[in-house]
Amino acid sequence: MALTSRIVAFQLAEPVKARGVNEQWLGGPYPRFRFLLDAAGLVGYISPMAAHDHDPNEGSNLSEVELRVRALETILVDKGYIESAALDRIVELYETKIGPHIGAQVIAKAWSDSSFRQSLLEDASKAVNAFAQVGSVGEHLIAVENTPQLHNMVVCTLCSCYPTDVLGLPPAWYKSFAYRSRTVKEPRAVLADFGVALPAETEIRVWDSTAETRYVVVPMRPAGTEGWNEAQLAKLITRDSMIGAGLPKKPSEVA
Ligand code: FE
Repeated sequence: MALTSRIVAFQLAEPVKARGVNEQWLGGPYPRFRFLLDAAGLVGYISPMAAHDHDPNEGSNLSEVELRVRALETILVDKGYIESAALDRIVELYETKIGPHIGAQVIAKAWSDSSFRQSLLEDASKAVNAFAQVGSVGEHLIAVENTPQLHNMVVCTLCSCYPTDVLGLPPAWYKSFAYRSRTVKEPRAVLADFGVALPAETEIRVWDSTAETRYVVVPMRPAGTEGWNEAQLAKLITRDSMIGAGLPKKPSEVA
């Protein structure tokens, strides 16, 4: 199971509820005990370079970050705040049921149904709740639409705020200092790093997420998809395209 997924699961777990296997844990993205969030955040912010900065002959195959995550989990399990099975279940649900699948379904519907698209842009929290797997989806969610004139990117400059209930578990790079700082200063260069080259005249607008407000990007529907149904369209929509760090796939990539 991916290390970053496990770190995020710490953040998602509500320690009191996590003592039993119950999908209702997913009702809230914040742990009751602030220290859990701080601890997981601390681990999450160790740079990828540091993660590999260890002696390969030291007798352990685990990186420094992996060791820290394992130590954190051991302590939290020992103290009864979480259960490993609970973390496994949360990670599995987020990876296989929630994200980015819900986000992709939402965008595919917006591409296909102009009245839904309008509802999404007016009140994304309300519009996405029809797609909820467990409880409600999205509080204070704002959808921002890409056009030929405007490309939107989402970042959390302060920490790692992310619409997990729509896009699932955030990628490790989303929490990296480099992404958080460079996206604001030089978004076009960051996009180039992701292999995205936009026309020079396209404005790039960066949205800074907070604990209260999350964003999802509505990418432009690719040409050549006329007549496609929502299920076909959803296959084109990547997680990165809904963060604004990427574009949807081309029809030829999923044919
Ligand atoms: Fe944040």
